[in-house]
Amino acid sequence: MSDTIKYLLDEQDLPKSWYNINADLPVPLDPVLHPGTKEPITPDDLAPIFPRAVIEQEMSAEREIEIPGPVRDVLRQWRPSPLFRARRLERALGTPARIYYKYEGVSPAGSHKPNTAIPQAFYNKEEGVKRITTETGAGQWGSSLALAGNFFGLEIIVFMVKVSYFQKPYRRAFMEAFGAQCIPSPSDQTASGRAILAEHPDSNGSLGIAISEAVEMAVQRDDTKYALGSVLNHVLLHQTVTGQESMKQLEMAGDWPDLVIGCTGGGSNFAGLAFPFLGKQLREGGNIQFIAVEPSACPTLTKGKFAYDFGDTAHLTPLVKMYTLGSSFMPPGFHAGGLRYHGMAPQISHLTKHGYIAPRAYSQLDTFAAGVRFAKAEGIIPAPEANHAVCAALEEAEKCRESGEAKTILFNLCGHGHFDMPAYMDFMAGKLQELTYDESEIAMALSGLPCGFD
Ligand SMILES: *Cc1c(COP(=O)(O)O)cnc(C)c1O
Repeated sequence: MSDTIKYLLDEQDLPKSWYNINADLPVPLDPVLHPGTKEPITPDDLAPIFPRAVIEQEMSAEREIEIPGPVRDVLRQWRPSPLFRARRLERALGTPARIYYKYEGVSPAGSHKPNTAIPQAFYNKEEGVKRITTETGAGQWGSSLALAGNFFGLEIIVFMVKVSYFQKPYRRAFMEAFGAQCIPSPSDQTASGRAILAEHPDSNGSLGIAISEAVEMAVQRDDTKYALGSVLNHVLLHQTVTGQESMKQLEMAGDWPDLVIGCTGGGSNFAGLAFPFLGKQLREGGNIQFIAVEPSACPTLTKGKFAYDFGDTAHLTPLVKMYTLGSSFMPPGFHAGGLRYHGMAPQISHLTKHGYIAPRAYSQLDTFAAGVRFAKAEGIIPAPEANHAVCAALEEAEKCRESGEAKTILFNLCGHGHFDMPAYMDFMAGKLQELTYDESEIAMALSGLPCGFD
């Protein structure tokens, strides 16, 4: 059998609609609540921060939502993305398992994030918006929205988590090349940023703080809206192109997964790959196991609480029922910046709570060791976030070697690591640290959860 096995689809196989798992949930999601009234939010409540079309998608229960022509036209530049069979990796591991990975590093920003940045920019443009504010962790989302804003003629302002701003200067340059403005967060440009700086002048920042800053700036002007790169229903929806394409590609291979694996920061790349398979399983039955992988230093699904919480630190967002470590939790500054979030997508949280998704957590050193083994076999250096999915895939393939079972493993290689080489340099020099969170900090953050509803 040949070493490089690649399943490619034609341009006309780019999905024409997104798949909405809300149509197939056995138990509906808990409502999103207004932070003031504690009543379910209405579309009007969200209108200051999101365009109408996005709000409709956020609340929709339609199974299929059409992808607009101009959006497909941009996505076509790199989609459908390739699905690879990891033959050299299988051989290196001596496993009977068949390992496939969907490669999202082929997008211009190097990750899955443009899959939602493009439609979000399109809908804002359609509704006359001039500026979009956002936050970014590792810089992947800021880069993707900068790219999308450039295509659709929108001004983009990105609050970048401070620790990543200094760890990843090339991400900032990437955003600026597309005309976006990139501000390290916490900043002195917003009241929420100034409040954090007054208390913690050396704050590393967090996604929760950066979200507060971006939302605060968006609500101040009518021509400005806000965009989120993960967590929300519409974002997970936009990512389902990856799972739908993978279904067709595995059909080409004459195969079907036993395991579907993705890393989870806010949950969007995992959902994008998993939901089309999971939806089919909910409708028709099946035995696929879905594994969500997170860092053990920010263990939202494995150690968090399923409760109503705010999406941000300053408590400007609505309350959503999700797994959370508490909105004041400050994860340590590990390198998988995209996975440093205190909460998790409500859809992922709900499906985990009801037993449809199995979460697990790995340490930073284990994930980098897995990433380097993968790179040596397959020639692609994964993003530090993606290393978490790689680590689970390797572990499962090794279990197959022990048991002799020939399982089919599918995982999302959601981005490449070309902007993350300083982290790899630390790893190879033996300088990468095993970071752990402080138990008492999580306990404190969780004790501050908004109370009165369950
Ligand atoms: C942003 C990002 C993540 C985390 O976000 P999800 O919404 O959980 O996918 C993971 N991997 C990469 C490469 C990212 O850019």
